[in-house]
Amino acid sequence: MSKTVLPGKIVCVGRNYVEHAKELGNEVPKSPLIFLKPPSAVIADGDPIRLPSASQQVEFEGEIGVVVGKRLSRASEAEARSAVRGIVAVNDVTARDLQKTDGQWTRAKGFDSFCPIGPESNGIPDLGNLTVVTRVNGEERQRGSSAQMVFSIPMLLSYISNIMTLEPGDLIATGTPSGVGRLAPGDVVEVEIAGVSRVSNPVAESS
Ligand code: MG
Repeated sequence: MSKTVLPGKIVCVGRNYVEHAKELGNEVPKSPLIFLKPPSAVIADGDPIRLPSASQQVEFEGEIGVVVGKRLSRASEAEARSAVRGIVAVNDVTARDLQKTDGQWTRAKGFDSFCPIGPESNGIPDLGNLTVVTRVNGEERQRGSSAQMVFSIPMLLSYISNIMTLEPGDLIATGTPSGVGRLAPGDVVEVEIAGVSRVSNPVAESS
């Protein structure tokens, strides 16, 4: 296991699992819905997630993270697949109340500590058969597979690279399965990509 990546940019995908889109009352988009999280939100395994006083509803979103290994611009899916450097566990922590009231998601997704990232995989596992599991205080809350994604990992990288050049070290968070839920001070939330990467973080009030 290597140390936590610090991406130049973090491109996230919304509503990439049918059941998660439904649980929040949304349709699955016709093309990938993307947004950015700032690199300043990144924390490592063991660091606390700080609940900002501006939000009353901070939620976990366990996700499969893809680390880019080669510059990608207007890449085909085959080129994108061969440019994957590694896989990481990501928690796309979200202030759900602010996401709804703001419309734009930058504040809801961008607080410091809102992007726990696990250590990068050694080598590249089968991108079509990755399992993501989220646990809160040891209890399983989410389970999904990359096989259930609306848009596959190579498709997502190709699509994003047709909008913005992806650089080595950039991170793609590929969307969360159903089961998202609220975090409270004292909780411990863990996202695991089975056999690949794991990130566990205590939850604390803002300092
Ligand atoms: Mg998400």
